[in-house]
Amino acid sequence: MSEKNRAAILEHMKSRNNTCADCGASNPEWASASKGLFICITCSGIHRNLGAQVSVVKSLRLDTWTDEKLKLMEEHGNDKGNAIWARNVPLCYRRPKPTDPHVLREQWIRAKYERKEFIDGATATKLFNRFTTRIFEKKGKDDNSWNLRLFVLSAEENSLAYFIKDQDREPKCTFNVTEINVTFAEERTSKENSLQITYVSEGLTRNYFVYSDSGKEIVDWYMAIRNAKLNLLGYNKPGINSEKLDRVLTRDFIMEGFLDKTGPRDEPWQKRWFTLDGRRLLYLEKPMDPHAKGELIIGSHMEGFALQEGVKSGKHQDDDYCFTLITPWKRDFVLKANTENERRMWMDSLSKVIARPMTDEDKEEMKLTREATKKIKKKTSLRYFRRVFIY
Ligand SMILES: [Zn+2]
Repeated sequence: MSEKNRAAILEHMKSRNNTCADCGASNPEWASASKGLFICITCSGIHRNLGAQVSVVKSLRLDTWTDEKLKLMEEHGNDKGNAIWARNVPLCYRRPKPTDPHVLREQWIRAKYERKEFIDGATATKLFNRFTTRIFEKKGKDDNSWNLRLFVLSAEENSLAYFIKDQDREPKCTFNVTEINVTFAEERTSKENSLQITYVSEGLTRNYFVYSDSGKEIVDWYMAIRNAKLNLLGYNKPGINSEKLDRVLTRDFIMEGFLDKTGPRDEPWQKRWFTLDGRRLLYLEKPMDPHAKGELIIGSHMEGFALQEGVKSGKHQDDDYCFTLITPWKRDFVLKANTENERRMWMDSLSKVIARPMTDEDKEEMKLTREATKKIKKKTSLRYFRRVFIY
């Protein structure tokens, strides 16, 4: 067969396999020639790292294809391949999308083809159920140290606890699994295999950060928490919508990153780490702080929330990439992004939140958060007053 014919056949096959077999990215340009799968360039890099005994990677356009290899591609393909390699994926398992964290994608591919966790007869779900204790590095609350801690997850007791020492009788802290959220945290920790655990109590958020040298440990733990929530919340029914599950088991932040902000009395710009978590907007002095410097629930137009490019009053200088979050309360938030693109992304995300009507639950959460932040402010100003008074 001529080179030209082979290229035409590959092109034709690609039209039936137009998304990556592993992450769903469109227009895959690479292949696992030994497994007969069409994959994207990023997934191809992970396949290559598995070694040729697991997956032989080839470029659809740049490599030469023998008739034999071409036949294998024709006989297999993505649908047939996934019917084998992803036959028994547990309901709790989050399958990666092209924009998801690298560690999630890598462990999905390793679980599929290297560890064969999802083939017929494999017992991945049982693995997550049994999974109860793990040792992770946990970031210290008040400093930048990372310390080994024992974490115990019990779906039966709806609890996630951690112990300072493994022989300790009492945990340092215990949460209800159904009340925590877990997200991958590389952007905040600069560590690839890391997670942020968020717990909202009495209207305020507490952040915890953990990491492991092993990507498998961190992804397994993430899935174990999802599995515990799945069972506790009663979503372990066949036919449940997987997109909905992805939202209720673990929730990714809508936006996060550094923005400049001015205070209520026209103070100089201050750099803060902002997180938009559903309706909740938090700003922290540093990305890994345990508590936010400020947090609020963003309401809708109905409650008097609005967004404006630039600044509302003549009070602040209209710097580049500014925008104002208008609230029904005494203060508006004047914020400044680093680039036009960042401003666009923040404004788009916030606009969507404001356009969505609030539920009764949102309103309750807003009240709780308002009261809690007011209490903290009072405490801080009292402390400030005392200091001024003494010295
Ligand atoms: Zn891919």
